[in-house]
Amino acid sequence: MKEVEELAYKDAQKARKKQSRKVPEGLQEIYDRVTGFDQKAKNLIRDAYFFAQEAHEGQLRKSGEPYFIHLVATAKNLADLGMDAKVIAAGILHDSIEDGVATEEQLLYEFGEEILFLVDGVTKLGHIRYQGMRRHNESLRKLFVATSRDVRVLIIKFADRLHNMNTLEHVREDKRERIATETLEIYAPLAYRLGITKLSKQLEDLSFPYVYPEEYKNVRDVLKERSKQTIAKLERMDRSISKKLAANGMRKFRTSNRIKGIYSFYKKLDRKKGDADKIYDIAALRIIVPTVADCYSVLGIVHQHYRPMVGRIKDYIAVPKPNGYRSIHTTVFTGDGGLVELQIRTEEMHLDAELGAASHLGYKKRTGGGEHMDSWATRLMGRFGDPAGNAPLKDPKEVAPGWIDSLADHSDNPESESFQTELKDDFFGHQIFVFTPLGEVIVLPEGATPVDFAFQVHSEVGNKMSGSKVNEKMVSMDSVLQNGDIVEILTSKQGKPTVKWLDFVKTNEARRKIKSYLEREEAEKR
Ligand code: MN
Repeated sequence: MKEVEELAYKDAQKARKKQSRKVPEGLQEIYDRVTGFDQKAKNLIRDAYFFAQEAHEGQLRKSGEPYFIHLVATAKNLADLGMDAKVIAAGILHDSIEDGVATEEQLLYEFGEEILFLVDGVTKLGHIRYQGMRRHNESLRKLFVATSRDVRVLIIKFADRLHNMNTLEHVREDKRERIATETLEIYAPLAYRLGITKLSKQLEDLSFPYVYPEEYKNVRDVLKERSKQTIAKLERMDRSISKKLAANGMRKFRTSNRIKGIYSFYKKLDRKKGDADKIYDIAALRIIVPTVADCYSVLGIVHQHYRPMVGRIKDYIAVPKPNGYRSIHTTVFTGDGGLVELQIRTEEMHLDAELGAASHLGYKKRTGGGEHMDSWATRLMGRFGDPAGNAPLKDPKEVAPGWIDSLADHSDNPESESFQTELKDDFFGHQIFVFTPLGEVIVLPEGATPVDFAFQVHSEVGNKMSGSKVNEKMVSMDSVLQNGDIVEILTSKQGKPTVKWLDFVKTNEARRKIKSYLEREEAEKR
Protein backbone atom coordinates (compact mmCIF):
# COMPACT_ATOMS: atom_id res chain seq x y z
CA MET A 1 0.00 0.00 0.00
CA LYS A 2 1.28 3.47 -0.80
CA GLU A 3 2.49 5.42 2.22
CA VAL A 4 0.42 8.47 1.36
CA GLU A 5 -2.74 6.39 1.16
CA GLU A 6 -2.05 4.68 4.43
CA LEU A 7 -1.60 8.04 6.12
CA ALA A 8 -4.86 9.27 4.67
CA TYR A 9 -6.71 6.16 5.92
CA LYS A 10 -5.18 6.58 9.35
CA ASP A 11 -6.28 10.23 9.52
CA ALA A 12 -9.80 9.37 8.42
CA GLN A 13 -9.98 6.59 10.99
CA LYS A 14 -8.78 8.89 13.78
CA ALA A 15 -11.23 11.63 12.87
CA ARG A 16 -14.06 9.12 12.89
CA LYS A 17 -13.10 7.65 16.24
CA LYS A 18 -13.11 11.14 17.78
CA GLN A 19 -16.69 11.94 16.83
CA SER A 20 -18.09 8.51 17.64
CA ARG A 21 -18.38 8.69 21.41
CA LYS A 22 -22.16 8.61 21.65
CA VAL A 23 -24.13 5.61 20.43
CA PRO A 24 -26.51 6.89 17.74
CA GLU A 25 -30.04 5.56 17.46
CA GLY A 26 -29.38 3.31 14.45
CA LEU A 27 -26.42 1.68 16.11
CA GLN A 28 -28.37 1.18 19.32
CA GLU A 29 -31.11 -0.55 17.30
CA ILE A 30 -28.51 -3.02 16.02
CA TYR A 31 -27.08 -3.55 19.52
CA ASP A 32 -30.61 -4.18 20.83
CA ARG A 33 -30.96 -7.14 18.48
CA VAL A 34 -27.84 -8.97 19.62
CA THR A 35 -27.07 -10.67 22.89
CA GLY A 36 -23.82 -11.93 24.32
CA PHE A 37 -21.57 -9.65 22.26
CA ASP A 38 -18.41 -8.55 24.04
CA GLN A 39 -17.00 -5.04 23.73
CA LYS A 40 -14.68 -6.06 20.92
CA ALA A 41 -17.59 -7.37 18.86
CA LYS A 42 -19.62 -4.22 19.51
CA ASN A 43 -16.68 -2.02 18.59
CA LEU A 44 -16.35 -3.78 15.25
CA ILE A 45 -20.00 -3.04 14.49
CA ARG A 46 -19.57 0.55 15.66
CA ASP A 47 -16.51 1.08 13.44
CA ALA A 48 -18.34 -0.33 10.43
CA TYR A 49 -21.31 1.90 11.25
CA PHE A 50 -19.35 5.15 11.23
CA PHE A 51 -17.25 4.07 8.27
CA ALA A 52 -20.33 3.36 6.14
CA GLN A 53 -22.05 6.53 7.28
CA GLU A 54 -19.11 8.47 5.89
CA ALA A 55 -18.78 6.37 2.73
CA HIS A 56 -22.43 7.02 1.83
CA GLU A 57 -22.66 10.61 2.97
CA GLY A 58 -25.11 12.67 0.96
CA GLN A 59 -26.41 9.63 -0.97
CA LEU A 60 -30.12 9.03 -1.19
CA ARG A 61 -32.25 5.97 -1.82
CA LYS A 62 -35.05 5.95 -4.40
CA SER A 63 -37.41 6.61 -1.49
CA GLY A 64 -35.62 9.91 -0.80
CA GLU A 65 -34.26 8.60 2.49
CA PRO A 66 -30.53 8.67 3.21
CA TYR A 67 -28.80 5.65 1.64
CA PHE A 68 -27.30 4.79 5.01
CA ILE A 69 -30.72 3.66 6.27
CA HIS A 70 -30.46 0.69 3.93
CA LEU A 71 -27.23 -0.43 5.61
CA VAL A 72 -28.59 -0.13 9.12
CA ALA A 73 -31.65 -2.13 8.01
CA THR A 74 -29.44 -4.82 6.46
CA ALA A 75 -27.44 -5.04 9.69
CA LYS A 76 -30.64 -5.32 11.74
CA ASN A 77 -31.84 -8.15 9.51
CA LEU A 78 -28.53 -9.94 10.02
CA ALA A 79 -28.73 -9.45 13.77
CA ASP A 80 -32.25 -10.92 13.70
CA LEU A 81 -30.81 -13.93 11.89
CA GLY A 82 -28.38 -14.36 14.76
CA MET A 83 -25.27 -13.54 12.76
CA ASP A 84 -21.95 -12.75 14.43
CA ALA A 85 -20.24 -9.35 14.57
CA LYS A 86 -18.13 -9.88 11.45
CA VAL A 87 -21.13 -10.72 9.31
CA ILE A 88 -23.11 -7.79 10.72
CA ALA A 89 -20.17 -5.44 10.07
CA ALA A 90 -19.80 -6.78 6.52
CA GLY A 91 -23.53 -6.21 6.10
CA ILE A 92 -23.16 -2.55 7.06
CA LEU A 93 -20.25 -2.21 4.65
CA HIS A 94 -21.71 -4.24 1.79
CA ASP A 95 -22.36 -1.29 -0.54
CA SER A 96 -19.51 0.97 0.57
CA ILE A 97 -17.27 0.15 -2.40
CA GLU A 98 -19.88 -0.35 -5.11
CA ASP A 99 -22.18 2.54 -4.21
CA GLY A 100 -20.18 4.50 -1.65
CA VAL A 101 -16.83 6.20 -1.95
CA ALA A 102 -14.71 3.61 -0.10
CA THR A 103 -11.97 1.63 -1.84
CA GLU A 104 -10.93 -2.00 -1.45
CA GLU A 105 -7.58 -0.94 -0.02
CA GLN A 106 -9.28 1.21 2.56
CA LEU A 107 -11.61 -1.58 3.64
CA LEU A 108 -8.69 -3.99 3.83
CA TYR A 109 -6.73 -1.50 5.92
CA GLU A 110 -9.51 -0.82 8.40
CA PHE A 111 -11.36 -4.14 8.59
CA GLY A 112 -9.02 -6.82 7.31
CA GLU A 113 -9.13 -9.62 4.80
CA GLU A 114 -12.17 -11.56 5.97
CA ILE A 115 -14.58 -8.63 5.92
CA LEU A 116 -13.24 -7.46 2.57
CA PHE A 117 -13.79 -11.01 1.28
CA LEU A 118 -17.43 -10.93 2.43
CA VAL A 119 -18.10 -7.45 0.99
CA ASP A 120 -16.45 -8.44 -2.26
CA GLY A 121 -18.58 -11.56 -2.47
CA VAL A 122 -21.79 -9.59 -1.97
CA THR A 123 -20.73 -7.12 -4.66
CA LYS A 124 -20.06 -9.95 -7.12
CA LEU A 125 -23.44 -11.50 -6.39
CA GLY A 126 -25.02 -8.13 -7.11
CA HIS A 127 -23.84 -8.35 -10.68
CA ILE A 128 -25.81 -11.48 -11.39
CA ARG A 129 -29.16 -10.51 -12.81
CA TYR A 130 -32.28 -12.50 -13.32
CA GLN A 131 -32.78 -12.59 -17.06
CA GLY A 132 -36.37 -13.70 -17.19
CA MET A 133 -35.85 -17.27 -18.33
CA ARG A 134 -37.69 -19.44 -15.90
CA ARG A 135 -36.35 -22.73 -17.16
CA HIS A 136 -32.87 -21.64 -16.22
CA ASN A 137 -33.65 -20.89 -12.61
CA GLU A 138 -31.78 -23.90 -11.35
CA SER A 139 -28.63 -22.85 -13.24
CA LEU A 140 -29.00 -19.35 -11.91
CA ARG A 141 -29.30 -20.66 -8.36
CA LYS A 142 -26.13 -22.64 -8.92
CA LEU A 143 -24.42 -19.57 -10.28
CA PHE A 144 -25.41 -17.75 -7.12
CA VAL A 145 -24.00 -20.43 -4.90
CA ALA A 146 -20.80 -20.83 -6.91
CA THR A 147 -20.24 -17.08 -6.99
CA SER A 148 -20.87 -16.51 -3.30
CA ARG A 149 -18.35 -19.20 -2.28
CA ASP A 150 -19.15 -18.67 1.38
CA VAL A 151 -22.58 -19.22 2.86
CA ARG A 152 -22.21 -15.99 4.85
CA VAL A 153 -22.07 -14.04 1.59
CA LEU A 154 -25.43 -15.50 0.62
CA ILE A 155 -26.92 -14.62 3.99
CA ILE A 156 -25.75 -10.99 3.74
CA LYS A 157 -27.27 -10.85 0.27
CA PHE A 158 -30.55 -12.20 1.69
CA ALA A 159 -30.57 -9.52 4.40
CA ASP A 160 -29.84 -6.86 1.78
CA ARG A 161 -32.62 -8.17 -0.44
CA LEU A 162 -35.10 -8.32 2.41
CA HIS A 163 -34.77 -4.57 2.94
CA ASN A 164 -34.91 -3.90 -0.79
CA MET A 165 -38.13 -5.90 -1.01
CA ASN A 166 -39.56 -3.98 1.93
CA THR A 167 -38.97 -0.75 0.02
CA LEU A 168 -39.74 -2.03 -3.48
CA GLU A 169 -42.66 0.35 -3.99
CA HIS A 170 -40.14 3.18 -4.46
CA VAL A 171 -38.40 1.43 -7.34
CA ARG A 172 -39.31 2.21 -10.96
CA GLU A 173 -42.30 0.14 -11.97
CA ASP A 174 -40.64 -1.78 -14.82
CA LYS A 175 -37.82 -2.86 -12.52
CA ARG A 176 -40.08 -4.06 -9.73
CA GLU A 177 -41.22 -7.21 -11.46
CA ARG A 178 -37.69 -8.29 -12.34
CA ILE A 179 -36.47 -7.78 -8.79
CA ALA A 180 -39.49 -9.50 -7.29
CA THR A 181 -39.26 -12.46 -9.69
CA GLU A 182 -35.58 -12.83 -8.94
CA THR A 183 -36.39 -12.82 -5.24
CA LEU A 184 -39.14 -15.38 -5.65
CA GLU A 185 -37.28 -17.72 -8.00
CA ILE A 186 -33.71 -17.45 -6.75
CA TYR A 187 -33.38 -15.96 -3.26
CA ALA A 188 -36.37 -17.48 -1.49
CA PRO A 189 -35.69 -21.07 -2.67
CA LEU A 190 -32.03 -20.81 -1.70
CA ALA A 191 -32.94 -19.45 1.74
CA TYR A 192 -35.37 -22.35 2.07
CA ARG A 193 -32.74 -24.91 1.13
CA LEU A 194 -30.46 -23.45 3.76
CA GLY A 195 -33.29 -24.02 6.21
CA ILE A 196 -33.75 -20.29 6.88
CA THR A 197 -37.50 -20.71 6.53
CA LYS A 198 -38.36 -17.52 8.35
CA LEU A 199 -36.49 -15.46 5.77
CA SER A 200 -37.66 -17.58 2.85
CA LYS A 201 -41.28 -16.95 3.86
CA GLN A 202 -40.72 -13.20 4.24
CA LEU A 203 -39.08 -12.96 0.81
CA GLU A 204 -41.83 -15.00 -0.85
CA ASP A 205 -44.65 -13.01 0.66
CA LEU A 206 -43.04 -9.68 -0.24
CA SER A 207 -42.49 -10.76 -3.87
CA PHE A 208 -45.82 -12.45 -4.48
CA PRO A 209 -47.97 -9.31 -5.06
CA TYR A 210 -45.51 -7.96 -7.65
CA VAL A 211 -45.01 -11.21 -9.56
CA TYR A 212 -48.61 -12.49 -9.55
CA PRO A 213 -50.79 -9.46 -8.75
CA GLU A 214 -54.09 -11.10 -9.77
CA GLU A 215 -53.48 -14.37 -7.96
CA TYR A 216 -52.32 -12.44 -4.94
CA LYS A 217 -55.60 -10.54 -4.68
CA ASN A 218 -57.67 -13.71 -4.96
CA VAL A 219 -55.66 -15.71 -2.48
CA ARG A 220 -55.37 -12.86 0.00
CA ASP A 221 -59.12 -12.79 0.51
CA VAL A 222 -59.43 -16.57 0.81
CA LEU A 223 -56.58 -16.74 3.31
CA LYS A 224 -57.94 -13.84 5.36
CA GLU A 225 -61.32 -15.52 5.64
CA ARG A 226 -59.78 -18.89 6.50
CA SER A 227 -57.26 -17.53 8.98
CA LYS A 228 -59.96 -15.87 11.05
CA GLN A 229 -61.85 -19.13 11.52
CA THR A 230 -58.69 -21.12 12.01
CA ILE A 231 -57.17 -18.81 14.59
CA ALA A 232 -60.28 -18.96 16.74
CA LYS A 233 -60.21 -22.74 16.47
CA LEU A 234 -56.52 -22.78 17.29
CA GLU A 235 -56.96 -20.69 20.40
CA ARG A 236 -59.64 -23.00 21.73
CA MET A 237 -57.39 -25.95 21.01
CA ASP A 238 -54.44 -24.23 22.66
CA ARG A 239 -56.34 -23.79 25.94
CA SER A 240 -57.68 -27.32 25.90
CA ILE A 241 -54.35 -28.99 25.08
CA SER A 242 -52.44 -26.88 27.61
CA LYS A 243 -54.83 -28.02 30.32
CA LYS A 244 -54.41 -31.66 29.37
CA LEU A 245 -50.62 -31.44 29.23
CA ALA A 246 -50.54 -29.83 32.69
CA ALA A 247 -52.92 -32.48 34.04
CA ASN A 248 -50.49 -35.12 32.76
CA GLY A 249 -47.59 -33.59 34.63
CA MET A 250 -46.02 -31.57 31.81
CA ARG A 251 -44.76 -28.38 33.39
CA LYS A 252 -42.28 -26.78 31.03
CA PHE A 253 -43.82 -26.09 27.69
CA ARG A 254 -44.92 -23.12 25.63
CA THR A 255 -47.25 -22.85 22.67
CA SER A 256 -47.41 -20.54 19.68
CA ASN A 257 -49.47 -20.14 16.52
CA ARG A 258 -48.10 -20.29 13.04
CA ILE A 259 -50.06 -18.95 10.08
CA LYS A 260 -49.03 -20.15 6.65
CA GLY A 261 -47.33 -17.59 4.42
CA ILE A 262 -49.58 -16.31 1.67
CA TYR A 263 -47.35 -17.48 -1.18
CA SER A 264 -46.96 -20.92 0.33
CA PHE A 265 -50.75 -21.03 0.72
CA TYR A 266 -51.16 -20.05 -2.93
CA LYS A 267 -48.83 -22.82 -4.11
CA LYS A 268 -50.60 -25.40 -2.00
CA LEU A 269 -54.00 -24.19 -3.16
CA ASP A 270 -52.76 -24.66 -6.69
CA ARG A 271 -51.69 -28.25 -5.94
CA LYS A 272 -55.04 -28.98 -4.28
CA LYS A 273 -56.82 -27.63 -7.39
CA GLY A 274 -58.21 -24.64 -5.55
CA ASP A 275 -59.86 -26.60 -2.75
CA ALA A 276 -58.95 -24.73 0.43
CA ASP A 277 -60.77 -27.35 2.51
CA LYS A 278 -57.99 -29.79 1.70
CA ILE A 279 -55.31 -27.57 3.21
CA TYR A 280 -54.95 -28.57 6.83
CA ASP A 281 -51.92 -26.54 7.75
CA ILE A 282 -53.16 -23.00 7.07
CA ALA A 283 -52.44 -22.54 10.70
CA ALA A 284 -50.66 -24.79 13.12
CA LEU A 285 -50.29 -24.93 16.86
CA ARG A 286 -46.72 -25.28 18.01
CA ILE A 287 -45.88 -26.97 21.28
CA ILE A 288 -42.31 -26.28 22.35
CA VAL A 289 -40.77 -28.40 25.10
CA PRO A 290 -37.31 -28.84 26.68
CA THR A 291 -36.28 -32.31 25.49
CA VAL A 292 -36.79 -34.81 22.69
CA ALA A 293 -38.38 -37.24 25.19
CA ASP A 294 -40.89 -34.50 26.05
CA CYS A 295 -41.84 -34.26 22.37
CA TYR A 296 -42.90 -37.92 22.32
CA SER A 297 -44.70 -37.56 25.67
CA VAL A 298 -46.69 -34.65 24.27
CA LEU A 299 -47.55 -36.68 21.16
CA GLY A 300 -48.78 -39.51 23.39
CA ILE A 301 -50.93 -37.24 25.53
CA VAL A 302 -52.40 -35.51 22.48
CA HIS A 303 -53.29 -38.76 20.72
CA GLN A 304 -54.92 -40.07 23.88
CA HIS A 305 -57.37 -37.19 23.81
CA TYR A 306 -57.73 -36.33 20.15
CA ARG A 307 -58.09 -38.75 17.29
CA PRO A 308 -55.24 -38.25 14.80
CA MET A 309 -55.89 -38.13 11.10
CA VAL A 310 -54.44 -41.14 9.31
CA GLY A 311 -51.42 -40.38 7.14
CA ARG A 312 -50.78 -37.01 8.74
CA ILE A 313 -48.43 -38.13 11.52
CA LYS A 314 -44.90 -37.23 10.53
CA ASP A 315 -41.88 -37.85 12.71
CA TYR A 316 -39.25 -35.47 11.40
CA ILE A 317 -37.28 -35.97 14.61
CA ALA A 318 -36.47 -39.58 13.79
CA VAL A 319 -36.22 -38.76 10.09
CA PRO A 320 -35.33 -35.08 9.57
CA LYS A 321 -36.11 -33.32 6.29
CA PRO A 322 -33.13 -32.92 3.96
CA ASN A 323 -32.75 -29.25 4.90
CA GLY A 324 -32.34 -30.31 8.53
CA TYR A 325 -35.88 -29.59 9.69
CA ARG A 326 -36.98 -31.53 12.79
CA SER A 327 -40.37 -31.64 14.54
CA ILE A 328 -43.23 -34.06 15.04
CA HIS A 329 -46.31 -33.15 13.02
CA THR A 330 -49.76 -34.53 13.58
CA THR A 331 -53.19 -33.39 12.49
CA VAL A 332 -55.98 -34.13 14.97
CA PHE A 333 -59.76 -33.87 15.03
CA THR A 334 -60.72 -31.16 17.49
CA GLY A 335 -63.98 -32.86 18.46
CA ASP A 336 -66.19 -30.07 17.14
CA GLY A 337 -65.81 -30.97 13.50
CA GLY A 338 -62.49 -29.23 12.91
CA LEU A 339 -58.93 -30.30 12.25
CA VAL A 340 -55.78 -28.75 13.67
CA GLU A 341 -52.16 -29.37 12.79
CA LEU A 342 -49.79 -29.66 15.74
CA GLN A 343 -46.03 -29.23 15.55
CA ILE A 344 -44.12 -30.57 18.51
CA ARG A 345 -40.44 -29.63 18.94
CA THR A 346 -37.71 -28.57 21.32
CA GLU A 347 -36.45 -24.96 21.62
CA GLU A 348 -33.34 -25.97 19.74
CA MET A 349 -35.36 -27.47 16.90
CA HIS A 350 -37.48 -24.33 16.86
CA LEU A 351 -34.41 -22.12 16.39
CA ASP A 352 -33.18 -24.52 13.73
CA ALA A 353 -36.48 -24.46 11.92
CA GLU A 354 -36.56 -20.68 11.76
CA LEU A 355 -32.90 -19.97 11.08
CA GLY A 356 -31.47 -23.22 9.69
CA ALA A 357 -27.91 -22.80 8.48
CA ALA A 358 -27.87 -19.32 9.95
CA SER A 359 -28.41 -20.67 13.45
CA HIS A 360 -25.21 -22.69 13.16
CA LEU A 361 -23.19 -19.78 11.86
CA GLY A 362 -24.26 -17.20 14.33
CA TYR A 363 -23.89 -16.42 17.96
CA LYS A 364 -27.28 -17.67 19.13
CA LYS A 365 -26.01 -20.53 21.22
CA ARG A 366 -27.84 -23.76 21.05
CA THR A 367 -29.23 -25.34 24.17
CA GLY A 368 -28.94 -29.07 24.80
CA GLY A 369 -29.38 -31.84 22.27
CA GLY A 370 -25.85 -31.27 21.01
CA GLU A 371 -25.76 -34.66 19.32
CA HIS A 372 -27.53 -33.23 16.31
CA MET A 373 -24.74 -30.77 15.70
CA ASP A 374 -22.56 -33.64 14.63
CA SER A 375 -24.82 -34.51 11.78
CA TRP A 376 -25.62 -31.81 9.31
CA ALA A 377 -24.57 -28.81 11.32
CA THR A 378 -20.90 -29.64 11.50
CA ARG A 379 -20.92 -30.12 7.79
CA LEU A 380 -21.75 -26.46 7.45
CA MET A 381 -19.23 -23.75 7.94
CA GLY A 382 -17.92 -24.97 11.24
CA ARG A 383 -17.91 -21.58 12.93
CA PHE A 384 -20.24 -22.07 15.85
CA GLY A 385 -20.96 -20.15 18.98
CA ASP A 386 -18.27 -17.52 18.89
CA PRO A 387 -20.12 -14.34 19.81
CA ALA A 388 -17.32 -12.04 18.75
CA GLY A 389 -16.95 -13.81 15.42
CA ASN A 390 -13.29 -14.39 16.05
CA ALA A 391 -13.22 -17.85 14.51
CA PRO A 392 -10.51 -18.04 11.87
CA LEU A 393 -11.46 -17.72 8.25
CA LYS A 394 -11.42 -21.09 6.60
CA ASP A 395 -10.70 -21.58 2.98
CA PRO A 396 -14.18 -21.63 1.48
CA LYS A 397 -13.23 -24.46 -0.84
CA GLU A 398 -12.32 -26.54 2.15
CA VAL A 399 -15.67 -26.12 3.84
CA ALA A 400 -17.84 -25.74 0.77
CA PRO A 401 -18.96 -29.36 0.30
CA GLY A 402 -20.85 -29.36 3.58
CA TRP A 403 -22.99 -26.35 3.07
CA ILE A 404 -23.48 -27.13 -0.55
CA ASP A 405 -24.86 -30.49 0.54
CA SER A 406 -27.44 -28.72 2.60
CA LEU A 407 -28.53 -26.71 -0.42
CA ALA A 408 -29.63 -29.81 -2.23
CA ASP A 409 -33.33 -29.87 -2.86
CA HIS A 410 -34.57 -33.41 -2.44
CA SER A 411 -38.18 -32.38 -2.31
CA ASP A 412 -40.65 -32.40 -5.13
CA ASN A 413 -38.65 -30.90 -7.95
CA PRO A 414 -37.39 -33.55 -10.38
CA GLU A 415 -35.47 -30.86 -12.27
CA SER A 416 -33.13 -30.46 -9.34
CA GLU A 417 -32.67 -34.06 -8.28
CA SER A 418 -29.03 -34.02 -9.13
CA PHE A 419 -28.56 -30.48 -7.84
CA GLN A 420 -26.24 -31.65 -5.11
CA THR A 421 -23.84 -33.65 -7.25
CA GLU A 422 -23.92 -31.18 -10.09
CA LEU A 423 -23.26 -28.34 -7.74
CA LYS A 424 -20.24 -30.08 -6.31
CA ASP A 425 -18.93 -30.86 -9.77
CA ASP A 426 -19.42 -27.27 -10.79
CA PHE A 427 -17.69 -26.03 -7.72
CA PHE A 428 -14.70 -28.28 -7.93
CA GLY A 429 -14.69 -28.89 -11.64
CA HIS A 430 -13.87 -25.18 -12.10
CA GLN A 431 -16.76 -24.33 -14.29
CA ILE A 432 -18.01 -20.92 -15.25
CA PHE A 433 -21.49 -19.69 -16.01
CA VAL A 434 -22.03 -17.29 -18.87
CA PHE A 435 -25.15 -15.94 -20.54
CA THR A 436 -26.52 -15.70 -24.05
CA PRO A 437 -27.87 -12.22 -24.90
CA LEU A 438 -31.33 -13.64 -24.08
CA GLY A 439 -30.24 -14.66 -20.61
CA GLU A 440 -29.82 -18.37 -21.15
CA VAL A 441 -27.15 -19.80 -18.87
CA ILE A 442 -24.37 -21.74 -20.56
CA VAL A 443 -22.03 -23.79 -18.38
CA LEU A 444 -18.44 -24.04 -19.61
CA PRO A 445 -15.12 -25.16 -18.15
CA GLU A 446 -12.77 -22.50 -16.83
CA GLY A 447 -10.65 -21.05 -19.61
CA ALA A 448 -13.36 -21.56 -22.24
CA THR A 449 -13.50 -19.18 -25.20
CA PRO A 450 -16.27 -17.70 -27.35
CA VAL A 451 -15.71 -20.58 -29.79
CA ASP A 452 -16.49 -23.11 -27.06
CA PHE A 453 -19.56 -21.07 -26.25
CA ALA A 454 -20.69 -21.02 -29.89
CA PHE A 455 -20.52 -24.80 -30.26
CA GLN A 456 -22.24 -25.27 -26.92
CA VAL A 457 -25.15 -23.21 -28.17
CA HIS A 458 -25.44 -24.99 -31.54
CA SER A 459 -23.14 -26.59 -34.16
CA GLU A 460 -24.50 -24.26 -36.82
CA VAL A 461 -23.61 -21.22 -34.73
CA GLY A 462 -20.03 -22.49 -34.42
CA ASN A 463 -19.81 -23.43 -38.08
CA LYS A 464 -20.90 -19.94 -39.20
CA MET A 465 -19.04 -17.99 -36.53
CA SER A 466 -17.26 -14.88 -37.73
CA GLY A 467 -16.67 -12.97 -34.51
CA SER A 468 -17.82 -12.48 -30.94
CA LYS A 469 -18.85 -9.86 -28.43
CA VAL A 470 -18.46 -10.14 -24.67
CA ASN A 471 -20.47 -7.72 -22.57
CA GLU A 472 -21.21 -5.81 -25.79
CA LYS A 473 -17.54 -5.36 -26.74
CA MET A 474 -15.84 -7.06 -29.68
CA VAL A 475 -13.29 -9.62 -28.49
CA SER A 476 -10.96 -12.09 -30.22
CA MET A 477 -12.13 -15.67 -30.70
CA ASP A 478 -9.58 -17.01 -28.24
CA SER A 479 -10.28 -14.62 -25.38
CA VAL A 480 -11.02 -16.29 -22.05
CA LEU A 481 -14.59 -16.00 -20.75
CA GLN A 482 -15.37 -15.05 -17.15
CA ASN A 483 -18.22 -16.00 -14.85
CA GLY A 484 -21.28 -13.91 -15.63
CA ASP A 485 -20.15 -12.69 -19.06
CA ILE A 486 -22.84 -12.07 -21.63
CA VAL A 487 -21.60 -13.60 -24.86
CA GLU A 488 -22.89 -12.85 -28.32
CA ILE A 489 -21.71 -14.83 -31.34
CA LEU A 490 -21.64 -13.08 -34.69
CA THR A 491 -22.27 -15.32 -37.67
CA SER A 492 -21.98 -14.76 -41.42
CA LYS A 493 -22.07 -16.76 -44.64
CA GLN A 494 -18.29 -16.52 -44.86
CA GLY A 495 -17.74 -17.56 -41.24
CA LYS A 496 -16.22 -21.03 -40.74
CA PRO A 497 -13.98 -22.99 -38.37
CA THR A 498 -10.23 -23.00 -38.97
CA VAL A 499 -7.43 -25.33 -37.83
CA LYS A 500 -6.18 -22.58 -35.53
CA TRP A 501 -9.30 -22.88 -33.37
CA LEU A 502 -8.13 -26.31 -32.25
CA ASP A 503 -5.22 -24.65 -30.47
CA PHE A 504 -7.35 -22.78 -27.96
CA VAL A 505 -10.73 -24.46 -27.52
CA LYS A 506 -11.32 -26.04 -24.10
CA THR A 507 -14.36 -28.26 -24.56
CA ASN A 508 -14.29 -31.66 -26.22
CA GLU A 509 -17.55 -30.79 -27.90
CA ALA A 510 -16.06 -27.82 -29.75
CA ARG A 511 -12.93 -29.81 -30.67
CA ARG A 512 -14.97 -32.68 -32.04
CA LYS A 513 -17.28 -30.44 -34.06
CA ILE A 514 -14.44 -28.36 -35.50
CA LYS A 515 -12.59 -31.50 -36.58
CA SER A 516 -15.65 -32.96 -38.18
CA TYR A 517 -16.28 -29.70 -40.05
CA LEU A 518 -12.68 -29.59 -41.31
CA GLU A 519 -12.86 -33.23 -42.42
CA ARG A 520 -16.05 -32.60 -44.34
CA GLU A 521 -14.51 -29.54 -45.97
CA GLU A 522 -11.45 -31.59 -46.97
CA ALA A 523 -13.66 -34.33 -48.44
CA GLU A 524 -15.61 -31.82 -50.50
CA LYS A 525 -12.39 -30.45 -51.99
CA ARG A 526 -11.40 -33.83 -53.32
MN1 MN B 1 -27.52 -3.18 -0.78
